[in-house]
Amino acid sequence: MHTNKLALLGGKKLIESQFPLYNSYGQEEVDAANRVLRSGVLSKFIGAWHEDFYGGPEVRAFEAEWASYFGAKFAVAVNSNTSGLMAAIGAIGIEPGDEVIVSPWTMCASATSILVWNGIPVFADIEPETFNLDPKSIERAISPRTRAIVVTDIFGHPADMQAIMLIAKKYNLMVIEDAAQAPGAKYHGKYAGTLANIGVFSLNYHKHIHTGEGGICVTDSAEFAERMQLIRNHAEAVVAGKGVDNISNMIGFNFRMGEIEAAMGREQLKKLNRFVQQRIDAADRLSAALSMLDGLQVPIIKPGCDHVYYVYPIILDTKHLGVAKFKIVDALIAEGVPSVMRGYINLHLLPMYQQKIAYGRSGYPWRDGEHISKVSYEKGICPVAEDMQDNSMFALGLCVHNFNNVEVDLVISAFRKVWDNLAYLR
Ligand SMILES: *Cc1c(COP(=O)(O)O)cnc(C)c1O
Repeated sequence: MHTNKLALLGGKKLIESQFPLYNSYGQEEVDAANRVLRSGVLSKFIGAWHEDFYGGPEVRAFEAEWASYFGAKFAVAVNSNTSGLMAAIGAIGIEPGDEVIVSPWTMCASATSILVWNGIPVFADIEPETFNLDPKSIERAISPRTRAIVVTDIFGHPADMQAIMLIAKKYNLMVIEDAAQAPGAKYHGKYAGTLANIGVFSLNYHKHIHTGEGGICVTDSAEFAERMQLIRNHAEAVVAGKGVDNISNMIGFNFRMGEIEAAMGREQLKKLNRFVQQRIDAADRLSAALSMLDGLQVPIIKPGCDHVYYVYPIILDTKHLGVAKFKIVDALIAEGVPSVMRGYINLHLLPMYQQKIAYGRSGYPWRDGEHISKVSYEKGICPVAEDMQDNSMFALGLCVHNFNNVEVDLVISAFRKVWDNLAYLR
């Protein structure tokens, strides 16, 4: 009789324990939050031209420390990465109908931040090695209406920014870098997030470091920093007093970060390096073992790059293995492997893009009076990203649990058990 039967087929589950959740905050953050609570100043922003337009002391100190750590001239703290992307797209001056190239293989806010300013997201395909935007595909997606590119450093590996910035220069495009998943990753000596005109980081509770909810933008441009500060804080009510001449996209929001979050963020930043190293150590241990398995590709790291493993992506050669991706994924989940991602959505396949319905019912901004945008969101426009989702890619979320050595070794044992039993899944 077969003694090591897969849990999926009625055998005993290999991982019985629940791994504790990853948590990047401790006593230092509790003390910082208490310090703010005792001060009585939980926020100091005023949405008018006034010395408190820039926020309270913790927000300003957090911004200065973040800018200094990452080697950027300016940092602008906001209440989420989503808000930060919206502020960034507004700051670079996107106009209604402008096209902005973006990856289909990213979190949805990378693209909705374009729609918020009535820009048109245009999806380019990804590279199979890093899942980041493919510069060749970007160049093919450029039209006379293209104004910018939103580049995500997906899963924690920096995008090919040298090639992308060259394309941007050639076609006079602005570039926003969504570094939500790659804080602390270096690219040829510079931090991810600082490689474009504006970079945006997330501080939500499932990222490497967090403040509950939060985000922060970095830039070397004083003009973009000012425009993001305005969009963060009710720009339309401030521009007259501040004497701002360029009032395009000066529709302001309330994207302000509170003092408690900023105080916690300052402590989290001190720990970033340590938490990133823990993800790298777990990933290295996984890769050493999983790279021995047939038909399985562990994460690829390009020369000059770090991978900080927000997510640990795996590619299967399912033709070679003779088993469908979702069968293998189901078998691993049944063995008790935690934080398995079954794939990653392709944004262009979401209903909003498929039906081109965003504002109201008439198809704006794709349909704008007489003008009808020809941009396509049909299945097939991004063959690499679509095939990854349908056939070959799945992942482990490395910021979901601590993944100490004991836990990593259990995960490895579960993979080995499934691979030993692939014949039963065919
Ligand atoms: C998490 C994430 C966001 C959104 O961040 P929030 O702070 O939750 O708004 C945007 N882009 C990417 C790539 C992300 O991973």
